[in-house]
Amino acid sequence: MHDPDCLFCKIVRGQIPSKKVYEDEDVFAFHDIHPAAPVHFLMVPKAHVHSMAGVTEVHAALLGKMMVLAPRLALEQGCNPYPDGGYRIVVNTGTEGGQEVHHLHLHVMGGPRPWLKG
Ligand code: 5GP
Ligand code: ZN
Repeated sequence: MHDPDCLFCKIVRGQIPSKKVYEDEDVFAFHDIHPAAPVHFLMVPKAHVHSMAGVTEVHAALLGKMMVLAPRLALEQGCNPYPDGGYRIVVNTGTEGGQEVHHLHLHVMGGPRPWLKG
């Protein structure tokens, strides 16, 4: 299922170009166009889900798969290993949660500091 007006649905379908990191039948990952860290990519379900606020039991396996995949892709993309390396996995949700693109996505951000304040 896709939303023809959704930016990330268009990226998943190749209608808008992106720098692909990973793809399988359920998940698509690509570099963020405005990286906030030396490594910054986004992971999205191929099927349109607007946000974490749209998640139900039917998405449990998909989200589990994405969370299992994220550490592997983080290392493949150049994040340093835990515990001295690491990365942030962030899911902005809704306007007050800082979400700008309303297709559920995980930000995976890492690489050598300083890029993370605090
Ligand atoms: P949000 O604020 O919704 O959590 O994050 C949206 C992210 O999508 C931002 O980090 C932004 O840089 C990224 N983004 C927005 N438009 C595009 C685009 O056309 N291509 C790519 N690769 N990233 C985008
Ligand atoms: Zn979408």
